[in-house]
Amino acid sequence: MCGDLRAEHVGQRLTVAGWAARRRDHGGLVFVDLRDRTGILQLVINPEHSPQSAELAKEIRNEFVLRAAGEVVARSPETVNPKMATGEVELLVDDLELVSRSTPLPFQLDEEGVDETLRLRYRWLDLRTDRMQRNLRLSSAVVSAIRQRMEELGFLDLWTPSLTRATPEGARDFLVPVRLQPGSFFALPQSPQLFKQLFMIAGFDRYYQIATCFRDEDLRADRQFEFRQLDVEMAFAEREDVLGVLEQAVRASFEALGREPPVAPFARVPWSEVMARYGSDKPDLRFGLEIQDGTEATRGSGFGVFANAPCVRYVVAPKAFSRGELARLEELVKEWGAGGLAYLICDEAGEVRSPIAKFLSEEELQTFGAEPGSTVLFAAGTQSLVSRVLGFLRLHLGRELGVVDETTDEFLWVVDFPLFEWDEESDRWTFSHHPFTGLASGHEELIESDPGAALSQAYDLVWNGWELGSGSIRIHRQDVQQRVFRALGLDEDEAREKFGFLLEALQMGAPPHGGFALGLDRFIALLAGEPNIREVVAFPKVSSGADPLTGAPAPVPDTQLAELGIRVVERPA
Ligand code: ASP
Repeated sequence: MCGDLRAEHVGQRLTVAGWAARRRDHGGLVFVDLRDRTGILQLVINPEHSPQSAELAKEIRNEFVLRAAGEVVARSPETVNPKMATGEVELLVDDLELVSRSTPLPFQLDEEGVDETLRLRYRWLDLRTDRMQRNLRLSSAVVSAIRQRMEELGFLDLWTPSLTRATPEGARDFLVPVRLQPGSFFALPQSPQLFKQLFMIAGFDRYYQIATCFRDEDLRADRQFEFRQLDVEMAFAEREDVLGVLEQAVRASFEALGREPPVAPFARVPWSEVMARYGSDKPDLRFGLEIQDGTEATRGSGFGVFANAPCVRYVVAPKAFSRGELARLEELVKEWGAGGLAYLICDEAGEVRSPIAKFLSEEELQTFGAEPGSTVLFAAGTQSLVSRVLGFLRLHLGRELGVVDETTDEFLWVVDFPLFEWDEESDRWTFSHHPFTGLASGHEELIESDPGAALSQAYDLVWNGWELGSGSIRIHRQDVQQRVFRALGLDEDEAREKFGFLLEALQMGAPPHGGFALGLDRFIALLAGEPNIREVVAFPKVSSGADPLTGAPAPVPDTQLAELGIRVVERPA
């Protein structure tokens, strides 16, 4: 109620309650900024008007909880505060109650730059700040809008277990020991993937859930051990059906925040194209600096590095860089794995300066098309290396040169991902999304004959360079699923052991189906304009994985471990 009072309420008597955000003592006359969920109201406590309240008011410190009764009065013109929504009025208190006191605070709520661990240690205070109040309210509004839209579209909110078997989403599992079966473990779900597929087989053809997922991965600005996703699955659905539903969920979220929703349908761009043009499977389309291919043009090049490289690509930066700037860029590309950085500087007068210019033919120089006041930056090597290096370089240049248009929102779907990726470490094929992803039409034959060429029916949603989530049309035939398991190096017994229930279900009338999962915390952080998902998660962990608030994770008594049949041994170094 505090934040709602305006001039029209002058003369009303009322009782307000909230926290003391600030107290000022003007020689007996005490002013308190009282904060509740709606905003801030100034209380005036005048010893002449209410001696008892004035006596109590001396004790008020920041974050005491107060209840105050009095009359809404107009402020005198010179004390009107136009920066406050309630700046025209104040409450002249005649009855004050100190409902609850506070010890001195570890930090002030309006303090800038408070250490994050301290904020998280005292999260109940931190959550009182304007920023966190705004973020969590925004989060709630978005989740509510999504739920409403999903229900309007006929989706059922169905619950799936948290104690389950490992679900392969490419991360490590969190394991849960079981007292009744020492030595056996549940895994916390990395996603409800298999359960939602079973719902489709079970005849619930439109499922959604705001699901909590658990993945034991290193924490980052956009990653926590546990996170929420809008998890969706549809039967008898094609890719476009799923994408259409997700576009609606995204648009509903914008609308709930009073923002212009992005125009649907979002662009659908094949993975091979985004990799070639942007060197990333989550490209930021708010700026150009597209990667260009110079492989053909350099086949017979006098510059050996180009002539011999399987792939030569470049970006043209709209600036004639200095040698010093180029040296710094070279350091960066080396960090990303490039051997070096070849370049052509075209100065304002149109003159090309470069250590390699003398090796290049007129035709090559023409191809690279350096305009006056630009620099052509090259990467040469394997396609994946070149793509990665130029992808990073493009992003770096976009930021450095200030060419990212921060006023636009660019959503796109990346489609037609490869089904498999080669994993250098284990020296075999691994899945690019998860093992249940369906194949592009006509690509089944490639599972055995040319796994690297097989395309999937997976898709990712990308917003301004952030991956919001992914999904796919699934495999709904047991024989195809078996073949994919085999290609992933899972023999028949292993596949039966781990996924027997799915293989069986796929043999008992499985409809075609597909779905998606939208990472909610990341989406909400972006909507809130926050760089870090910890700012939109009420009780997050810090990057070491610890929770400064509760002190978790923590050792447990030996008796508890004994009950679970567990002995802790030191981890080999
Ligand atoms: N289970 C997938 C994930 O969590 C999403 C999906 O394929 O629907 O990323």
